[in-house]
Amino acid sequence: MDQSQELRRVGLKVTHPRVRILSILQGRHPRHFSAEDIYRHLVEHSEDIGLATVYRVLTQFEAAGIVNKHHFESGQAVFELNRGSHHDHMIDLDSGKVIEFVDEDIERLQRAIAQRHGYDLEEHSLVLYVRPRRAARATPETAVPGRTPARSASAKSSASVKKVTPAQGGRQSR
Ligand SMILES: [Zn+2]
Repeated sequence: MDQSQELRRVGLKVTHPRVRILSILQGRHPRHFSAEDIYRHLVEHSEDIGLATVYRVLTQFEAAGIVNKHHFESGQAVFELNRGSHHDHMIDLDSGKVIEFVDEDIERLQRAIAQRHGYDLEEHSLVLYVRPRRAARATPETAVPGRTPARSASAKSSASVKKVTPAQGGRQSR
C-alpha cells in the first residue's frame, strides 16, 4: 500500500507533508525516529517542511494508529510505524541505538505475573537500558580456566570478612 492509500485508509487527507513523513517512517533503517530525526531527514532532502509541522503530523499519525510513540528515558520521544506486531526495546546508552526483541519466556512470565495478582495482561512496554559488553574485550590471560574462579572465590571471602566489621563497631554505641 502506498502512502496516499494508507492515509486515506485511516481517514487522513493526503497532503505533501503527510506523504513525505510517512514514507520516511516506512523506510527500513532505522525504524525509530525522534521528530528532530525526521525534520533533519527532510532538510537533507531539501523539503520545505517545518519542525512544527513534523510534530503535528506525527501527533495525527499517532491518533490515527499508524505510528506508536515511545518515551524512552534516555532521550526524546521516539516514533515508529505501527507494524501490528508486538516487540520490546533495548536502548544502547552509549550510542542511543534502539534494538528490538521478542522473547517468548518474558511474554509468558508477564502474563503469569498479572494472573497471579488477579489480572489479565492487556498491554506492556518493556525497555532495557544497556551498554556494550566489556567481557567481549577481555585479554586472553583472564580467560584461562582455573584462574578466574580462584580470583572470584577470594573476592567472595574478603567480602564476607568485611561483613563482620559493622557488628564490631556496634560495641561503641553502648
Ligand atoms: Zn520498535
